[in-house]
Amino acid sequence: MKSFMYVRAHSVDEATAAHAGRPTSRYLGGGTNLVDLMKLGVEHPETLIDVSRLPLDTVEELHDGSVRVGAAVRNSDLAAHPLVRDRYPVLAQALLSGASGQLRNVATTGGNLLQRTRCPYFQDLGKPCNKREPGTGCAARDGVHRDHAVLGHSPLCIATHPSDMAVALAALDAQVELQGTRGSRTLPAAEFHRLPGDRPEQDTEIVHGELITGVVLPAATAGVPSAYRKARDRASYAFALASVAVVLDIDDAVVRKVRIAFGGLAHRPWRARRAEEELLGDAPTDEAFLRAVDAELAAAEPLPENAFKVPLARNIAVDVLRRLAASRTAS
Ligand code: SF4
Repeated sequence: MKSFMYVRAHSVDEATAAHAGRPTSRYLGGGTNLVDLMKLGVEHPETLIDVSRLPLDTVEELHDGSVRVGAAVRNSDLAAHPLVRDRYPVLAQALLSGASGQLRNVATTGGNLLQRTRCPYFQDLGKPCNKREPGTGCAARDGVHRDHAVLGHSPLCIATHPSDMAVALAALDAQVELQGTRGSRTLPAAEFHRLPGDRPEQDTEIVHGELITGVVLPAATAGVPSAYRKARDRASYAFALASVAVVLDIDDAVVRKVRIAFGGLAHRPWRARRAEEELLGDAPTDEAFLRAVDAELAAAEPLPENAFKVPLARNIAVDVLRRLAASRTAS
Protein backbone atom coordinates (compact mmCIF):
# COMPACT_ATOMS: atom_id res chain seq x y z
CA MET A 1 0.00 0.00 0.00
CA LYS A 2 1.26 3.50 -0.80
CA SER A 3 1.92 5.75 2.17
CA PHE A 4 -0.69 8.36 3.02
CA MET A 5 -1.42 11.10 5.52
CA TYR A 6 -3.98 10.42 8.24
CA VAL A 7 -6.13 13.22 9.66
CA ARG A 8 -8.74 12.69 12.37
CA ALA A 9 -11.60 15.16 12.01
CA HIS A 10 -13.21 16.48 15.19
CA SER A 11 -16.14 18.21 13.52
CA VAL A 12 -18.00 18.12 10.23
CA ASP A 13 -16.64 21.57 9.34
CA GLU A 14 -13.10 20.41 10.04
CA ALA A 15 -13.63 17.32 7.90
CA THR A 16 -15.07 19.14 4.89
CA ALA A 17 -12.40 21.86 5.03
CA ALA A 18 -9.63 19.25 5.12
CA HIS A 19 -11.22 17.28 2.28
CA ALA A 20 -11.90 20.29 0.07
CA GLY A 21 -8.30 21.47 0.41
CA ARG A 22 -6.79 18.15 -0.65
CA PRO A 23 -7.82 17.03 -4.17
CA THR A 24 -6.89 13.37 -3.70
CA SER A 25 -8.17 12.93 -0.14
CA ARG A 26 -10.79 10.40 0.90
CA TYR A 27 -13.05 10.22 3.92
CA LEU A 28 -12.51 7.15 6.09
CA GLY A 29 -15.58 5.65 7.76
CA GLY A 30 -15.53 1.90 8.38
CA GLY A 31 -12.96 1.50 5.62
CA THR A 32 -14.30 -1.91 4.61
CA ASN A 33 -14.13 -1.15 0.89
CA LEU A 34 -11.71 1.77 0.70
CA VAL A 35 -8.87 0.07 2.57
CA ASP A 36 -9.21 -3.05 0.38
CA LEU A 37 -8.96 -0.86 -2.71
CA MET A 38 -5.91 0.92 -1.29
CA LYS A 39 -4.21 -2.42 -0.71
CA LEU A 40 -4.92 -3.35 -4.33
CA GLY A 41 -3.58 -0.02 -5.57
CA VAL A 42 -6.94 0.96 -7.08
CA GLU A 43 -7.35 3.83 -4.63
CA HIS A 44 -4.28 5.83 -3.62
CA PRO A 45 -5.38 8.90 -1.67
CA GLU A 46 -2.67 11.17 -0.35
CA THR A 47 -4.77 11.85 2.76
CA LEU A 48 -7.37 9.87 4.67
CA ILE A 49 -9.72 12.02 6.73
CA ASP A 50 -11.17 9.89 9.50
CA VAL A 51 -14.83 10.80 10.04
CA SER A 52 -15.76 7.66 11.95
CA ARG A 53 -15.73 9.44 15.34
CA LEU A 54 -17.86 12.42 14.38
CA PRO A 55 -21.16 12.67 16.31
CA LEU A 56 -23.15 11.23 13.40
CA ASP A 57 -23.89 7.88 15.00
CA THR A 58 -27.51 8.22 16.12
CA VAL A 59 -30.89 7.15 14.76
CA GLU A 60 -33.60 9.60 15.80
CA GLU A 61 -37.25 10.27 15.07
CA LEU A 62 -37.90 13.82 13.87
CA HIS A 63 -40.96 15.90 14.73
CA ASP A 64 -42.64 15.17 11.38
CA GLY A 65 -42.42 11.40 11.88
CA SER A 66 -39.44 10.87 9.63
CA VAL A 67 -36.34 9.09 10.91
CA ARG A 68 -32.84 10.53 10.60
CA VAL A 69 -29.92 8.11 10.39
CA GLY A 70 -26.45 9.52 11.04
CA ALA A 71 -23.82 8.72 8.43
CA ALA A 72 -21.61 6.99 11.00
CA VAL A 73 -24.31 4.54 12.16
CA ARG A 74 -23.00 1.02 11.63
CA ASN A 75 -24.93 -1.23 9.25
CA SER A 76 -25.62 -3.85 11.93
CA ASP A 77 -26.89 -1.22 14.39
CA LEU A 78 -29.17 0.25 11.74
CA ALA A 79 -30.60 -3.14 10.79
CA ALA A 80 -31.35 -3.90 14.45
CA HIS A 81 -32.82 -0.53 15.36
CA PRO A 82 -36.50 -0.82 16.44
CA LEU A 83 -37.57 2.20 14.35
CA VAL A 84 -36.11 0.57 11.24
CA ARG A 85 -37.34 -2.93 11.97
CA ASP A 86 -40.87 -1.74 12.74
CA ARG A 87 -41.37 0.97 10.13
CA TYR A 88 -38.95 0.18 7.32
CA PRO A 89 -38.50 -3.61 7.22
CA VAL A 90 -37.25 -3.40 3.63
CA LEU A 91 -34.22 -1.51 4.90
CA ALA A 92 -33.47 -3.93 7.72
CA GLN A 93 -33.78 -6.87 5.31
CA ALA A 94 -31.55 -5.24 2.72
CA LEU A 95 -28.87 -4.46 5.29
CA LEU A 96 -28.89 -8.00 6.66
CA SER A 97 -28.58 -9.45 3.17
CA GLY A 98 -25.34 -7.56 2.56
CA ALA A 99 -21.74 -8.55 3.32
CA SER A 100 -21.07 -10.56 6.50
CA GLY A 101 -21.82 -10.00 10.18
CA GLN A 102 -18.26 -8.82 10.81
CA LEU A 103 -18.35 -6.33 7.94
CA ARG A 104 -21.79 -5.01 8.92
CA ASN A 105 -20.44 -4.33 12.42
CA VAL A 106 -17.86 -1.97 10.94
CA ALA A 107 -19.40 -0.56 7.75
CA THR A 108 -21.20 2.77 8.07
CA THR A 109 -24.31 4.20 6.45
CA GLY A 110 -22.32 6.85 4.57
CA GLY A 111 -19.64 4.42 3.52
CA ASN A 112 -22.18 1.90 2.29
CA LEU A 113 -23.50 4.51 -0.16
CA LEU A 114 -19.99 5.28 -1.38
CA GLN A 115 -18.76 1.72 -1.87
CA ARG A 116 -17.48 1.03 -5.35
CA THR A 117 -18.32 -1.57 -7.93
CA ARG A 118 -16.99 -5.08 -7.46
CA CYS A 119 -16.34 -5.46 -11.21
CA PRO A 120 -13.21 -7.67 -11.15
CA TYR A 121 -11.53 -5.65 -13.90
CA PHE A 122 -11.92 -2.48 -11.84
CA GLN A 123 -9.90 -4.17 -9.11
CA ASP A 124 -7.24 -5.55 -11.48
CA LEU A 125 -4.55 -3.00 -12.30
CA GLY A 126 -3.43 -5.15 -15.22
CA LYS A 127 -6.71 -4.70 -17.12
CA PRO A 128 -8.17 -1.67 -18.90
CA CYS A 129 -10.99 0.00 -17.00
CA ASN A 130 -12.60 3.34 -17.78
CA LYS A 131 -13.84 3.68 -14.22
CA ARG A 132 -10.43 3.22 -12.64
CA GLU A 133 -8.46 4.95 -15.38
CA PRO A 134 -10.62 6.99 -17.79
CA GLY A 135 -9.91 6.44 -21.46
CA THR A 136 -8.30 3.01 -21.15
CA GLY A 137 -11.31 0.92 -22.20
CA CYS A 138 -13.66 -1.58 -20.61
CA ALA A 139 -12.31 -5.09 -20.20
CA ALA A 140 -15.67 -6.42 -19.03
CA ARG A 141 -17.56 -5.69 -22.24
CA ASP A 142 -15.68 -8.39 -24.16
CA GLY A 143 -14.68 -10.28 -21.04
CA VAL A 144 -16.58 -12.03 -18.27
CA HIS A 145 -19.68 -9.94 -17.61
CA ARG A 146 -22.21 -12.33 -16.16
CA ASP A 147 -22.62 -10.12 -13.07
CA HIS A 148 -22.80 -6.83 -14.96
CA ALA A 149 -25.52 -4.38 -15.88
CA VAL A 150 -28.56 -4.97 -18.08
CA LEU A 151 -30.09 -1.51 -17.64
CA GLY A 152 -28.68 1.97 -18.18
CA HIS A 153 -25.15 0.92 -19.11
CA SER A 154 -22.99 2.84 -21.58
CA PRO A 155 -20.35 1.88 -24.14
CA LEU A 156 -17.75 2.98 -21.58
CA CYS A 157 -18.90 0.98 -18.55
CA ILE A 158 -21.28 -1.87 -17.74
CA ALA A 159 -20.63 -2.10 -14.00
CA THR A 160 -23.31 -2.53 -11.35
CA HIS A 161 -23.58 -0.79 -8.02
CA PRO A 162 -23.06 -3.30 -5.19
CA SER A 163 -25.06 -1.84 -2.27
CA ASP A 164 -28.22 -3.55 -1.01
CA MET A 165 -28.95 -0.75 1.46
CA ALA A 166 -29.02 1.85 -1.33
CA VAL A 167 -31.70 -0.13 -3.19
CA ALA A 168 -33.97 -0.06 -0.13
CA LEU A 169 -33.30 3.66 0.37
CA ALA A 170 -34.27 4.36 -3.25
CA ALA A 171 -37.57 2.51 -2.79
CA LEU A 172 -38.29 4.33 0.47
CA ASP A 173 -37.86 7.80 -1.09
CA ALA A 174 -35.08 8.46 1.41
CA GLN A 175 -33.05 11.66 1.23
CA VAL A 176 -29.27 11.84 1.50
CA GLU A 177 -27.93 14.79 3.51
CA LEU A 178 -24.68 16.35 2.29
CA GLN A 179 -22.57 19.07 3.81
CA GLY A 180 -19.76 20.92 2.10
CA THR A 181 -17.71 23.98 2.83
CA ARG A 182 -20.36 26.14 1.14
CA GLY A 183 -23.37 24.75 2.92
CA SER A 184 -25.64 21.72 2.98
CA ARG A 185 -28.07 20.13 0.55
CA THR A 186 -30.13 16.98 0.21
CA LEU A 187 -30.45 14.58 -2.70
CA PRO A 188 -33.08 11.88 -3.21
CA ALA A 189 -31.41 8.52 -2.58
CA ALA A 190 -32.73 7.34 -5.96
CA GLU A 191 -30.72 10.10 -7.66
CA PHE A 192 -27.61 10.00 -5.52
CA HIS A 193 -25.85 7.45 -7.74
CA ARG A 194 -25.24 8.08 -11.44
CA LEU A 195 -25.54 6.07 -14.61
CA PRO A 196 -22.11 5.69 -16.22
CA GLY A 197 -22.68 7.69 -19.42
CA ASP A 198 -19.39 9.18 -20.59
CA ARG A 199 -18.02 9.65 -17.04
CA PRO A 200 -17.99 6.17 -15.50
CA GLU A 201 -15.28 7.24 -13.07
CA GLN A 202 -17.90 9.26 -11.20
CA ASP A 203 -20.21 6.98 -9.22
CA THR A 204 -22.37 9.60 -7.49
CA GLU A 205 -23.55 13.20 -7.65
CA ILE A 206 -21.44 14.14 -4.62
CA VAL A 207 -18.79 16.81 -5.28
CA HIS A 208 -15.34 16.83 -3.76
CA GLY A 209 -15.39 18.30 -0.27
CA GLU A 210 -18.97 17.25 0.47
CA LEU A 211 -19.54 14.79 3.29
CA ILE A 212 -22.58 12.55 3.73
CA THR A 213 -23.88 13.52 7.17
CA GLY A 214 -27.03 11.40 7.25
CA VAL A 215 -29.99 9.81 5.55
CA VAL A 216 -33.61 10.73 6.23
CA LEU A 217 -36.27 8.04 5.98
CA PRO A 218 -39.53 9.82 5.21
CA ALA A 219 -42.72 9.57 7.23
CA ALA A 220 -44.66 8.91 4.00
CA THR A 221 -43.24 5.40 3.63
CA ALA A 222 -43.07 4.58 7.37
CA GLY A 223 -45.14 1.57 8.26
CA VAL A 224 -46.11 0.83 4.66
CA PRO A 225 -45.66 -2.90 3.96
CA SER A 226 -42.28 -3.47 2.39
CA ALA A 227 -39.79 -6.22 1.63
CA TYR A 228 -36.39 -6.89 0.05
CA ARG A 229 -35.44 -9.95 -1.98
CA LYS A 230 -31.98 -10.77 -3.24
CA ALA A 231 -30.92 -13.45 -5.69
CA ARG A 232 -27.24 -14.40 -5.48
CA ASP A 233 -24.87 -17.25 -6.15
CA ARG A 234 -24.63 -18.38 -2.52
CA ALA A 235 -26.74 -17.89 0.57
CA SER A 236 -24.59 -15.23 2.22
CA TYR A 237 -21.63 -12.95 1.62
CA ALA A 238 -22.37 -12.49 -2.06
CA PHE A 239 -23.44 -9.54 -4.14
CA ALA A 240 -26.81 -9.45 -5.87
CA LEU A 241 -27.26 -10.94 -9.30
CA ALA A 242 -30.61 -9.20 -9.05
CA SER A 243 -32.47 -7.80 -6.08
CA VAL A 244 -35.67 -5.88 -5.51
CA ALA A 245 -37.00 -3.56 -2.83
CA VAL A 246 -40.77 -3.04 -2.79
CA VAL A 247 -43.00 -0.71 -0.78
CA LEU A 248 -46.66 -1.50 -1.41
CA ASP A 249 -49.83 -0.06 0.08
CA ILE A 250 -53.17 -1.53 -0.91
CA ASP A 251 -56.52 -0.16 0.17
CA ASP A 252 -59.97 -1.18 -1.00
CA ALA A 253 -58.39 -3.74 -3.34
CA VAL A 254 -56.51 -0.99 -5.17
CA VAL A 255 -52.79 -0.16 -5.22
CA ARG A 256 -52.57 3.20 -3.41
CA LYS A 257 -48.82 3.49 -3.14
CA VAL A 258 -46.04 1.50 -4.75
CA ARG A 259 -42.30 1.93 -4.90
CA ILE A 260 -40.04 -0.57 -6.65
CA ALA A 261 -36.25 -0.45 -6.94
CA PHE A 262 -33.94 -3.04 -8.45
CA GLY A 263 -30.38 -3.83 -7.42
CA GLY A 264 -27.72 -5.74 -9.34
CA LEU A 265 -29.05 -4.56 -12.69
CA ALA A 266 -27.48 -1.15 -13.20
CA HIS A 267 -24.78 1.34 -12.24
CA ARG A 268 -27.17 2.64 -9.59
CA PRO A 269 -30.24 1.37 -7.76
CA TRP A 270 -32.83 1.24 -10.53
CA ARG A 271 -36.05 2.90 -9.49
CA ALA A 272 -38.80 1.23 -11.53
CA ARG A 273 -40.95 4.30 -12.15
CA ARG A 274 -42.60 2.88 -15.27
CA ALA A 275 -43.78 -0.17 -13.31
CA GLU A 276 -44.98 2.04 -10.47
CA GLU A 277 -47.04 4.17 -12.87
CA GLU A 278 -48.58 1.05 -14.39
CA LEU A 279 -49.62 -0.32 -11.00
CA LEU A 280 -50.92 2.79 -9.28
CA GLY A 281 -54.70 2.63 -9.04
CA ASP A 282 -54.81 -0.93 -10.40
CA ALA A 283 -56.16 -4.03 -8.71
CA PRO A 284 -53.20 -5.94 -7.18
CA THR A 285 -53.43 -9.03 -9.37
CA ASP A 286 -50.67 -11.31 -10.62
CA GLU A 287 -51.44 -10.16 -14.16
CA ALA A 288 -51.06 -6.50 -13.21
CA PHE A 289 -47.77 -7.18 -11.41
CA LEU A 290 -46.37 -9.09 -14.39
CA ARG A 291 -47.49 -6.46 -16.88
CA ALA A 292 -45.96 -3.64 -14.85
CA VAL A 293 -42.63 -5.33 -14.21
CA ASP A 294 -42.34 -6.45 -17.83
CA ALA A 295 -43.02 -2.88 -18.96
CA GLU A 296 -40.10 -1.72 -16.81
CA LEU A 297 -37.72 -4.43 -17.90
CA ALA A 298 -38.50 -3.88 -21.58
CA ALA A 299 -35.73 -1.28 -21.40
CA ALA A 300 -33.15 -3.94 -20.56
CA GLU A 301 -30.21 -4.42 -22.93
CA PRO A 302 -28.57 -7.59 -21.66
CA LEU A 303 -25.10 -8.65 -22.72
CA PRO A 304 -24.28 -12.13 -24.07
CA GLU A 305 -23.62 -13.62 -20.60
CA ASN A 306 -26.25 -11.95 -18.44
CA ALA A 307 -29.60 -12.19 -20.22
CA PHE A 308 -30.71 -14.46 -17.36
CA LYS A 309 -30.90 -11.41 -15.12
CA VAL A 310 -34.04 -10.11 -16.83
CA PRO A 311 -36.36 -13.06 -16.04
CA LEU A 312 -34.64 -13.43 -12.66
CA ALA A 313 -35.43 -9.82 -11.75
CA ARG A 314 -38.95 -10.16 -13.07
CA ASN A 315 -39.64 -13.30 -11.07
CA ILE A 316 -38.37 -11.99 -7.74
CA ALA A 317 -40.17 -8.66 -8.20
CA VAL A 318 -43.50 -10.26 -9.03
CA ASP A 319 -43.13 -12.70 -6.15
CA VAL A 320 -42.41 -9.94 -3.62
CA LEU A 321 -45.34 -7.86 -4.93
CA ARG A 322 -47.61 -10.90 -4.75
CA ARG A 323 -46.55 -11.75 -1.19
CA LEU A 324 -46.94 -8.20 0.07
CA ALA A 325 -50.38 -8.00 -1.53
CA ALA A 326 -51.38 -11.33 0.02
CA SER A 327 -50.21 -10.25 3.48
CA ARG A 328 -52.25 -7.07 3.13
CA THR A 329 -55.34 -9.02 2.18
CA ALA A 330 -54.84 -11.45 5.06
CA SER A 331 -54.35 -8.74 7.72
FE1 SF4 B 1 -14.22 -0.82 -15.59
FE2 SF4 B 1 -16.84 -0.44 -15.73
FE3 SF4 B 1 -15.65 -1.86 -17.59
FE4 SF4 B 1 -15.81 -2.84 -15.11
S1 SF4 B 1 -17.51 -2.45 -16.45
S2 SF4 B 1 -14.01 -2.86 -16.49
S3 SF4 B 1 -15.71 -0.98 -13.91
S4 SF4 B 1 -15.29 0.31 -17.16
